[in-house]
Amino acid sequence: MLLKARLCGYQYVSRPKRLLVLLFTKASFYNMPCEAAAHFLILYGSQRGQAQSIAEEICQQAAEHGLTADINCLSKHDKYNLDSESRPVVFVVSTTGDGDPPDTALKFVRKIKNKSLPHDHLSHLRYALLGLGDTNYANFCNGGKTIDSYLQKLGAKHFYATGHADDGTGLEVVVDPWIEGLWDALKKTFSTMSTSDQQTHRDCTQDNYHQNASDQEKNLEVDLHLLKLSEVDSPKGETVTSDSSATEIGSTTLVASLKESVPPLSESVLNVPALPPSYLEVLLVGTENVEETVLPDKDGYLEVPISKAVQLTQDDAVKTAILLELEISEQEEVYQPGDAFDILCPNRASEVEELLLKLDLQKQKNCTVQVNLLKNTSKKAAKVPLHIPQNGSLQFILTWCLEIRSSPKKAFLRALVDFTQNASEKRRLLELCSKQGSADYNSFVRDSNVCVLDLLRAFPSCRPPLSLLLEHLPKLQPRAYSAASSSLQHPGKVHLVFNVVEFPARPEHPARKGLCTGWLVDHVSSILEARGTAPASERPGTSALPKVHVRARPSSTFHLPSDPRVPVVMVGPGTGVAPFIGFLQQREKEREANQETTFGEMWLFFGCRHKDKDFLFREELERFVHNGTLSHLIVCFSRDEPDAVETVNRPTYVQHNLILHAKNVARILLKEKGCLYVCGDAKNMAKDVNDTLLEIIGNELQLDKLDAMKIVAGVREDKRYLQDIWS
Ligand code: FAD
Repeated sequence: MLLKARLCGYQYVSRPKRLLVLLFTKASFYNMPCEAAAHFLILYGSQRGQAQSIAEEICQQAAEHGLTADINCLSKHDKYNLDSESRPVVFVVSTTGDGDPPDTALKFVRKIKNKSLPHDHLSHLRYALLGLGDTNYANFCNGGKTIDSYLQKLGAKHFYATGHADDGTGLEVVVDPWIEGLWDALKKTFSTMSTSDQQTHRDCTQDNYHQNASDQEKNLEVDLHLLKLSEVDSPKGETVTSDSSATEIGSTTLVASLKESVPPLSESVLNVPALPPSYLEVLLVGTENVEETVLPDKDGYLEVPISKAVQLTQDDAVKTAILLELEISEQEEVYQPGDAFDILCPNRASEVEELLLKLDLQKQKNCTVQVNLLKNTSKKAAKVPLHIPQNGSLQFILTWCLEIRSSPKKAFLRALVDFTQNASEKRRLLELCSKQGSADYNSFVRDSNVCVLDLLRAFPSCRPPLSLLLEHLPKLQPRAYSAASSSLQHPGKVHLVFNVVEFPARPEHPARKGLCTGWLVDHVSSILEARGTAPASERPGTSALPKVHVRARPSSTFHLPSDPRVPVVMVGPGTGVAPFIGFLQQREKEREANQETTFGEMWLFFGCRHKDKDFLFREELERFVHNGTLSHLIVCFSRDEPDAVETVNRPTYVQHNLILHAKNVARILLKEKGCLYVCGDAKNMAKDVNDTLLEIIGNELQLDKLDAMKIVAGVREDKRYLQDIWS
């Protein structure tokens, strides 16, 4: 029997009711005329694909609610026109950089920001907006908030409250209920809008009908399967705790893991996301003598030699910091201190090999991969992902194009179920993507940074086809590193500094290093020097220098003030000091060249664990102080035992030193209109510094927190409080 409408993936229905709902859904489909499917438009602005996949999810779910949607990236200006849009519009917008809208939305923002537009320019527009952000960063969800506020200024009206989803705690915490509430809001909007205003873009074709129907049948299969599993009797005499990951049965405590669940989850009826439609067809061509695919010098990337690699920390330091010197002379890369460079890094060869083994594709690794859209796919706006090159070898694509370490999304888990043989593995995968299993998903997949390879290890009967990986794995992203040099001091070169990121072993996966930093440290091992040894390129017998693909990533704001008299405060503990080394080298050269000019004060707040183990750039910073480039170097060591002369309350972190120098910080920011720069760890340091700044301003001006926040927001607006932070 053919069914058109599908059950909403996340609507919880108890077992007896579920059967009723299935029947009811069927009946309502047969009564629904084709034209009843109301249309709306989805526009997304995505930086790394999250907003896009959520937008696609909304589009996919629309059919289940008897609605249809067109979906477009905000950058595709020729595909939509808000000036005459009569359908409700749903925006899904992520945030990037220092609270900026994603690159793909920049042109759109410029357009709606245009001051010459009348205040009622978009008064006809009804819209809902879902912003994505991360509370670990300042300017949470600012990409979405910016678009929201300009749409409001132009008279557009919300038909549903804006959602702000936080990647720091899990996007789905807000995204799922927001989408759940969207359907009612849309239906109400349609009922109040004149039907004649609605554009009917799509016919209810026979093809659509069959595709949706077969999707529904698949979903139904899952429902019935789950129903059976849930009919297993509960163990007798158990105490079920509220924590789904640990349950006491008599005197035994059952603990959940990636592979195993415990009651109540193991006995729950599950609501799982709809099966994402497959949309790629993959062909592997040829097996032998395929030339190795090389990284093309495209998208502005250049392959440059690494002329120097120096370990800046002692061997017994907690973290290893490494400085790289890249030869960029021939390529004439121009950069300013404060800019960063993107580095392309490959996935680890051992992980690619193991993945090939798990996919049973080891023998085909040199085959050329041809990717096409699956005919009759029901995925809306399906296209072959741009990051998958045509005719690249399988090994190349797995090594350079896909983020194989990314945490699988729930839709991917759902898709994997259909390629898993073992019934209990199937059930566990369904639990992990279900609404009821959200806590387990967060703890065993997302927070444990489980990747597809970890899943294939944990669920050995799962054998997905290559096409599924190409559909679900995101683009392998370049990693950014701030320039730690000035080209005035090092012409034709750029210095980058990074910590080798280490992830300890967990039950879900073995110990591993950060993808890029782990690769870089291996890549430069032949030229890596301890501090103070001769540069590798001058040593006789040094073999060909390692190379790396880089591209400048200019910052629009994180630069020294154009007026050299403006005083600056720099806060950069650990590798956060990197851009400030560039600032100071630049200022040192400018002072040499312009001895008559007056230069503003420069303060640097630096911090590390131990004075003798990880005080990065110590000699260079002392030189800057010595020659007057740096007016004040304020340093703290968080793990050194206090000296006898030091008080127990000595400053531990940079924010403690900011408090000790509060008068000067306030003077520079408030009276002298100076700049405050913060660089480094987004998770703790940047937040603590921000709180400290509020305290300093509040105390100085005798204001409460809210008013202090307004002042700080003003300083930020003036581009005098600038952050370059990462996690
Ligand atoms: P990844 O493999 O990408 O891992 C990084 C993150 O992934 C972790 O923080 C964690 O959240 C998560 N993760 C992945 N696997 C696990 C796991 N198994 N367990 C727990 N968590 C996991 N860094 C510097 O050192 N120096 C700089 O100068 C610098 N400048 C930057 C400038 C900009 C503009 C930006 C955006 C970032 C900058 N970074 C800098 C950060 C840098 O780009 C990388 O994010 C960092 O080096 C880690 O990269 P990776 O590939 O080694 O780690």
